[in-house]
Amino acid sequence: MTASDPVLRVRDLKVHFPITSGILARRQVGTVKAVDGVSFTVNRGETLGLVGESGCGKSTTGLAVLRMLDITSGTVEFEGEDITGYDRGRMRPIRRRMQMVYQDPYGSLNPRMKVADIVGEPLVVHGLATDRDKYRARVADLLRMVGLLPDMAERYPHEFSGGQRQRIGIARALALDATLLICDEPVSALDVSIQAQVVNLFMELQERLGLTYIFIAHDLSVVRHISDRIAVMYLGRIVEIATRDQLYKDPLHPYTKALLAAVPIADPELEAARGQQIISGEIPSALRPPPGCRFHTRCPVAMAVCKSIDPPMRDMPDGRAVACHLHGG
Ligand code: SF4
Repeated sequence: MTASDPVLRVRDLKVHFPITSGILARRQVGTVKAVDGVSFTVNRGETLGLVGESGCGKSTTGLAVLRMLDITSGTVEFEGEDITGYDRGRMRPIRRRMQMVYQDPYGSLNPRMKVADIVGEPLVVHGLATDRDKYRARVADLLRMVGLLPDMAERYPHEFSGGQRQRIGIARALALDATLLICDEPVSALDVSIQAQVVNLFMELQERLGLTYIFIAHDLSVVRHISDRIAVMYLGRIVEIATRDQLYKDPLHPYTKALLAAVPIADPELEAARGQQIISGEIPSALRPPPGCRFHTRCPVAMAVCKSIDPPMRDMPDGRAVACHLHGG
């Protein structure tokens, strides 16, 4: 990882969806603030874990970065280029270097296509499959790269296990020499025994190809092994961003502590030291986020100030950032 070489810079990103009502004259009756002021940087060769409960805006953030969703405000800079206002046409060359790996290896692969065509399709779409032999050789290389055999190219997705299908999805994402992969819960649908194999594959590929990852997950157990830094999201905002060691050894935000309390730790000393703050209650609606600190309705250590004043993100002396009145208020 090179600390001074950002691949991606996201500044104050907002993705809001209007809610309308009425059949004839549709009028806006509200706004879902799915992502509401998110800033982060991902450096070359780094993995940023993006973690939070379902509905916190982590997948929406990934889709907005890829420009697959409209951005309400804020900026997205990829390899030094501001792509915030790019349309499909201008995103086309960028998309070669920025790819998504999806959660569901069953739903994301076309069941009627052979593996060779699934993996090679991006080459065809981008006009890079002009020579049949070179195309076949590239597909064979990609399959080998993800631990599959080249002769599997003639089979269909249903002939593979969940882990193998996710490998096919990864091969497809790598077909165009991507530098940034946005991996949206890429192992959540897999058996626990297979998850580690696929996470290890991601790490091997990162080392070999110098890839940069955003690794999205709903809990902190999956991202621990692979992430250099982790951003914890709650209701459309990042509430803490820290290195892996800082976050797992000494979480600052009460929400991070609660998420961590839900993850079993093998080390009994750490297990005893971390304290148990199991989170309770439902995540509030992004249509009407609570005033003040958005987490105050579930926070076990909320104070009076938390109900009225929104805590800003503050940089801590050790380099992390946290949004909580208990830290630097
Ligand atoms: Fe809890 Fe208050 Fe910190 Fe929010 S600002 S996380 S409610 S202590």
